[in-house]
Amino acid sequence: MAFDLHTHTTCSDGTTSPEDNAALAAAAGLTGLAVSDHDTTDGWERAAGACDRHGIEFVPGIELSAELSSGRSVHVLGYWCDAGDDGLVAECGRLRGERERRARLVLSRLAALGVELSWEAVARYAGDAPVGRPHIAAALVALGAVPDHGAAFARYLGDGAPAYVPKRALAPEDAVRLLRAAGGVPVLAHPGRPRGPVAATPPASVGVAATGLVAAEAVRLIDRMVAAGLVGIEGDHASNEPPTAAAWREVALERGLVVTGSSDFHGDRKDVRIGQRTTSAAVVDALRSLAPAVAGVVE
Ligand code: AMP
Ligand code: ZN
Ligand code: FE
Ligand code: FE
Repeated sequence: MAFDLHTHTTCSDGTTSPEDNAALAAAAGLTGLAVSDHDTTDGWERAAGACDRHGIEFVPGIELSAELSSGRSVHVLGYWCDAGDDGLVAECGRLRGERERRARLVLSRLAALGVELSWEAVARYAGDAPVGRPHIAAALVALGAVPDHGAAFARYLGDGAPAYVPKRALAPEDAVRLLRAAGGVPVLAHPGRPRGPVAATPPASVGVAATGLVAAEAVRLIDRMVAAGLVGIEGDHASNEPPTAAAWREVALERGLVVTGSSDFHGDRKDVRIGQRTTSAAVVDALRSLAPAVAGVVE
């Protein structure tokens, strides 16, 4: 009785279709699957149909981009949102335009670094999806500028790398409010993965007070997000080592937050498989029960 609550498809920067994810989840023996693409709900209908055919439960998700004033990027997952909510639709539309603006800036930075990559080459990988760094990475690999996806991030695109450009996005607290207003259940994505420009002095660690695993800065952010309506943390993300996941579980427990476990599957763009980390059906029920009551949103 397990769910994978964070997977990507070709509707954003994954390499598998919504139908593929449903098939992979069923093959992995999962009870349910969330498709949580970056800044879009486009994959929901196809994923829901495919999950239905495989006899597994579909959880509609979205991974909304947010950022701190430092430019550091923060991702907030939202489950069971109303895909037609005006605020959500407007923010996803704005982010789509912002992603294109940012990708074009990345291309000019790459050009200044001597790597000539055309917009058409990137657009070929993005298709109709909001353009993301993994699409640029794929184009860089195809061009022969880097040997693989990881090298594209390490050398050019990763947070703080020479061609890195942040997106202009909502503050994390506002992303939480927006998801709740859309009837969704907001969960902080991959809290243990440091992102954004690396601070000159690493933040002091408070980790479960003594383990030193959880940065104080991240805990302060979580507290602000909880005040805005955050209900969960993706403490058991595939990139977290067990001690980090345990530390997040403790932070969550202290605050009455739900802890989810997910793969953050991206097809062959990442070394994880669907179902590598999971969330129990009981936790999924607890999450669902925390969905805000929003006028006009029908279950
Ligand atoms: P974007 O939304 O365009 O900023 O791209 C974010 C996505 O890039 C993440 O969801 C990951 O799939 C990928 N990503 C970010 N950092 C790295 C990295 N260091 N190595 C590989 N992929 C990364
Ligand atoms: Zn991604
Ligand atoms: Fe993410
Ligand atoms: Fe993700």
